[in-house]
Order: sequence, then structure tokens, then C-alpha cells
Amino acid sequence: MSQAHYRTDGAIAVITMDNPPVNGLGLELRIGIRDSIARAMADAAVQAVVLTGTARAFSGGADIREFNTPKADASPHLLEVIDVIENAAKPVVAAIAGLALGGGNELALGCHYRVGSPGTQIGLPEVNLGLLPGAGGTQRLPRLIGAAKALDMIVSGAPIRAEEAAKLGYFDRLIDGDLVAGAIAFAREVVASGAARPRVRDRSVDAASVPGGPQAFFDAARAQVAKAYVGYPAPMKCLECVEAAVKKPFDEGMKVEHMLFGELIDSITSKALRHAFFAERAASKIPDVPEDTPQRPIKGAAVIGAGTMGGGITMNFINVGIPVTLLEMKQEALDRGVATIRRNYENTAKKGRMTQEEVEQRMALITPTLSYADIAQADIVVEAVFEDMNVKQKVFETLDTTMKPGAILASNTSTLDVDRIAAFTQRPQDVIGTHFFSPANVMRLLEIVRGAKTGKDVLATTMALSKRIRKVGVVAGVCDGFIGNRMIEQYSRQAGFLLEEGCSPQQVDAAVERWGFSMGPFRMADLAGNDVGWYIRKRRYLEKPDLRYSKTADLVCELGRYGQKTSAGWYDYKPGDRTAYPSPVVEDLLTKERDRLGITPRKVSDEEIVNRLVLALVNEGAQLLDEGIALRASDIDIIYLTGYGLARFRGGPMFYADSLGLPQVVRIMQGFAANPNADPDFWKPAPLLARLAAEGRSFNG
Ligand code: NAD
Repeated sequence: MSQAHYRTDGAIAVITMDNPPVNGLGLELRIGIRDSIARAMADAAVQAVVLTGTARAFSGGADIREFNTPKADASPHLLEVIDVIENAAKPVVAAIAGLALGGGNELALGCHYRVGSPGTQIGLPEVNLGLLPGAGGTQRLPRLIGAAKALDMIVSGAPIRAEEAAKLGYFDRLIDGDLVAGAIAFAREVVASGAARPRVRDRSVDAASVPGGPQAFFDAARAQVAKAYVGYPAPMKCLECVEAAVKKPFDEGMKVEHMLFGELIDSITSKALRHAFFAERAASKIPDVPEDTPQRPIKGAAVIGAGTMGGGITMNFINVGIPVTLLEMKQEALDRGVATIRRNYENTAKKGRMTQEEVEQRMALITPTLSYADIAQADIVVEAVFEDMNVKQKVFETLDTTMKPGAILASNTSTLDVDRIAAFTQRPQDVIGTHFFSPANVMRLLEIVRGAKTGKDVLATTMALSKRIRKVGVVAGVCDGFIGNRMIEQYSRQAGFLLEEGCSPQQVDAAVERWGFSMGPFRMADLAGNDVGWYIRKRRYLEKPDLRYSKTADLVCELGRYGQKTSAGWYDYKPGDRTAYPSPVVEDLLTKERDRLGITPRKVSDEEIVNRLVLALVNEGAQLLDEGIALRASDIDIIYLTGYGLARFRGGPMFYADSLGLPQVVRIMQGFAANPNADPDFWKPAPLLARLAAEGRSFNG
């Protein structure tokens, strides 16, 4: 059956797109639109056409299910469909509700008229996938709404609402109430007044929308884009297209768009961004927990511990209207925690991103308490007390006796065994790990730790809740450090070895920051607190006394250099200033440690630094996949993109390994293993990596 339904209302043909959920412009729909337009042209009784979608979407653009399949490039291409519409012998009116994004917007721009419902989202978000609108959007939108606004929309990818679009001249009419009826009436008026068929392509860009003239305007814009999008080539190419729309005739501009689109689609950055897009969607799928798994209702939450994490977790809930009862041991800690949350909101209000009234509304959703009786009725309780099994044990034993049946008991532990925590209760099926990342109200990642006995409904509910609080939930199995922190442990070990071999902390940090991490390992450790890692290392290396690691981090801690909080860590800090200054004390400490180890320092290249750190992540990631702790390589990538500050244009560590080619990854690792100071065990490829490399396959296959 066609995905474009055809009917007539008197002399008006109505074509309704029908490809749920958002009328993605897949091959069947493209054929349907083209054929329906032909039918309307062939019918002598038809005088004009209305092209519309559903209340939810005119069209969300390309059909992502078609990506990387032959259908994506099959004829008719979207450009051909737009051509058919634009050159139709009868006027075509786009009737737009819900959203018109990407190709959907380009389709609307090819119509002779546009009418829309208030609230509709209009946008060209291709840049978010490292692309540019490739079906004329870069040429038509500036002609319709002016260069400045079009440039802003295309470069940022951010949509605008119909009301704003109407003011800019995008719409010929906004229609309250029944959109299609209004569109038909509009089409009749068009017919009555001579059935003109204005084409956006025939217009020229309004000179007033290019203040100061094209040269000055685009020079300034170019400088801004270069600064704002380091590492991302697409925004600059979007700019070049809009510049062509201003400076060149339409057909020439289309050639520029076509050429630059071709460059982007094959670029590694766009591949990485598309990978990240699909990876994020894949992460929400758990093979043995189908989408229709029953969920438990979550109306109210409780958080235990109002420290760094508890405060941020509380904010996540109240930001989406879920009331939180916040429990602490002592009144003083409770007051401090609540005051910190208030201060965070007030800072947001000061920046104008929230009203004082909203601050009060959010704060009113918090009920502070010192009593477990007050949290008993919560649907989910998230424990965020000290990272100490004895403390967690007491908390979970108390929860077991106080919480109502069916409440989800979640722990924010970053390393401890969730199965042991579950065993402190009589209801292990209700226990789950919800590992938030600091700052918990900002970082998008939520690592969801599935215990051996965690109920499927508990897992499904927690996954859905992650979406509700606007996080990306990624499932991990139980192990020390789960996915993200178990991998970062190997990355930190390598960073330590690099110091022993001659690197300075600033050299290591700078190399990986240039590569794409927002912070290198040493700046990160100073921010998180070196004592935290020290505490964990003491436990870990007691369990594994033979494991080699650099003692430099312990030596730094022994000097009381815990990081920013003590104004001294791997770097020196001035009070009240987060700027990291190279530390002569650390330099001296490193020199002595190299002497003690008998290592002659050498110059290590940035490439070696990056590969040693990133491939350390990759090898541990492969191990996690083999053990089933991570469900898929793309989950690991998402964890690094959303929880560890890795730039999205990198696509993630496993994507990076795939892009190098796994045989090459193994070769590089063998080279590192040959280094006389290397721990030979470290660079032994994980069995999965070795296997895939030998078979010439990739992680994300
Ligand atoms: P924190 O020291 O800032 O806060 C812990 C809070 O818990 C304190 O306010 C303390 O008074 C309170 N508390 C301790 N025992 C309690 C009890 N029995 N009942 C009620 N309250 C109690 O610690 P944090 O950094 O917020 O870490 C909390 C948890 O989150 C730990 O398990 C930690 O491993 C984990 N975590 C921390 C981070 C991070 O970056 N800080 C990131 C992810 C996970």
C-alpha cells in the first residue's frame, strides 16, 4: 500500500503522508508523493494540491531505518520529488503540523506555499550528524527567511517554532484549528486569485538579511564558526553553502551544496556522529527485556545522602517534576545539601535561564528528612552515601525493613558489588545500580547496573526513568568499576606509566585534550580528588598484589596533594582559581621516581600518548564485551561520549579502534609491548580483539 494517501475535496487534491512515526522520507513514501502529484496533474478536475502529514509530523526528514541501505539512494531521490513538486503545473501547498525537519523541511521549501499549525517545529538538523541539508535546504531557506537566520539554523541545527518562522516569512499563513481544512481553504483562495506558483528558487536572498554586505558578514560568521566548532567540519561547510546562496544563482548554489555534502558524507567525523546517533538509540534496547515489559509506576523518589552526588541526583528528579524526599544522617549535612541545591538553581536564575518562581517550585518538591519513616512510600530510592560497603550494608538493611513492597532500591555506587548490596535485603529483585556521573545534574550518562537477580520490570522501569530524567541509560553487568570506570582504570594505569617514562602530566593531558577528551587524566583526577582514586587503589591492589601500576599517584597523595580541593595535586592551584599550573613539586617527585626505577626519560610523541591511553580503554572494552558486562561495543562508545567528556566527533573508543582497523590496533599494541618498560601483560590483546582482528572484523560490525 502506498505511504501517500490521495483524495480530493472538490478541486483540491489532498496528499497525506503516512509513514509512522514521523513520516520519514523513505523510498515508498518518496514514490507515493511523486505518483500522487502526477495523479493530481493528470486529473483535469483538480486545480491545486495540499501536501500534508499527521498532527505529529509533516515529516521528520530522511527515514533513518533506510540509512546505509540501497533504498536510501534509489530513485526517486528526494531532490527529484522536490523537483516534481516545484515544477508542477498546479499550485502545491504544504500543510505542516508537528515538525518539518531536515528533508521534511526541504520538501516543504519545494512547495509553492506553506501553511502551518502554531507550535510546529521547523529545522534543518543535519549538522548534528556531521552533514548539511543536501536537498536544496541550504539554497532555499536563505531565499525564504534571509541569510542571517538561515545560517544560524543550518549551522546550529536548532529548530524554531512556527510562530517565529511565520514572522520570518516561512509561512504564508498560520492556521488555528483544523489544519487540513484551513489548507484546503487557502488552496481555493490561491486558485481563485489566479493559481500562481511561486518558487522559492526564483527569489534572491534579501540584502537586508546580510548586514554590512556579504564579504564582511561571512568573514565575521566564518571566524565565529571556526571558533565554536573545533573538530567539526560540517558547520563551516554549511556556511559555505549559505554563502553560495547569497552570492551565486540557484543552480550554481545547488552544485556547491551537492559537492560539499558529498565531502561530508564520506568524512570520518560524520561517520562518527552517525554512529553516536544510532548507538544512543541501540543502548535503550536490552535483548531479553522487550519493550512491552511491564513497568512500575514512579511518582515519588527518595535520595539517601545529600552530598555531591545525592544533591545532583535530587535535582534530576525535581527538574522533571518528580518529588524527592532527601534523607541524611545529621541535620547539618541535610541543611548543607539542600542549600547547595538551592544555590545551583539560583545561579541558573542569575544567568536568566530560570525564573525565581521556578526556583521556588523546584525547591518545594524537596522534602528533607532524617527519618526513614518519611521515605517508606517512595517508588524508588537512590542511595548515594559513602563508598563503603559497611555503610551501604546498614542503609540497605534499613531500606529492606522500611520501604513499601515494590519500591526500587537503587545504589549509586561507582565500584562496589551490586549483588552483594542486593544480598543485604530480602528483595534482591528490587535492587539495581544507578551510577550517575559527576556533576549528576549535568552529565547525560546513567550507567544502569543489572544485578544477577534484578527483576526485568525493575530494569525496564529504570531504563524508562533514565529517559524521563533526560539521561542516556546504558546497561552494565556487575563487576568492579562496571564499564566506564573499569576501563578508565587501565587508562589511568597507562597514564602513570607514561609519567615514569618521561612525560609530564601537562604533556599527557594536552595530548588527549587535543585529541578530543575535555580533560586529560591528571586534570580530571585533580578535579575528582586524588584521594578518591587512592582509596580505591588501596582496596584493588590489596586484592591483586601482582598487578603493576605506577606509584606516582600514591606519592602525590602522600604529600596531601588531593587536587583542586587542597589547591595542590598533579598541578598547583591558586585559591578560588581552577587554572592548573605545572607543579615543580610534582616534577621533582617524578624525577626521583624515575631515578628509583632506573628509567632514563625519553621524549614520547603525542600520537603514542593518545594511542596508549585510548587503546588501553579499547582492550579493556573488548574484555568487557567478552564477559558480557557490556552488551555491545556501541554502548561502550556512548558511555565515553556522555559520561567521560569525549568529543562526539570521535565516535567513542571502540569506534576509533574500528576506524584504525583492528589488525592495525593489534600491531600498535604489539609495538607498545616491545617497549622495555612496558608491562608485557598489559598489551596482550583481549581474546575478542584478537579474534576479530584475525577475522578482519570490527567491534561495531
Ligand atoms: P559525599 O561524601 O559527597 O556524600 C555522601 C553523603 O552521604 C554525605 O553527605 C554523608 O553525610 C551522607 N551519608 C553517609 N552515610 C549516610 C547514611 N548512613 N545515611 C544517610 N546519609 C549518609 O559522596 P559522593 O561523592 O556524593 O558519593 C556518594 C556515592 O556516589 C558513593 O557511593 C560514590 O562512590 C558514588 N559516586 C560518586 C561520584 C563522584 O564523582 N563523586 C560519581 C559517581 C558515583
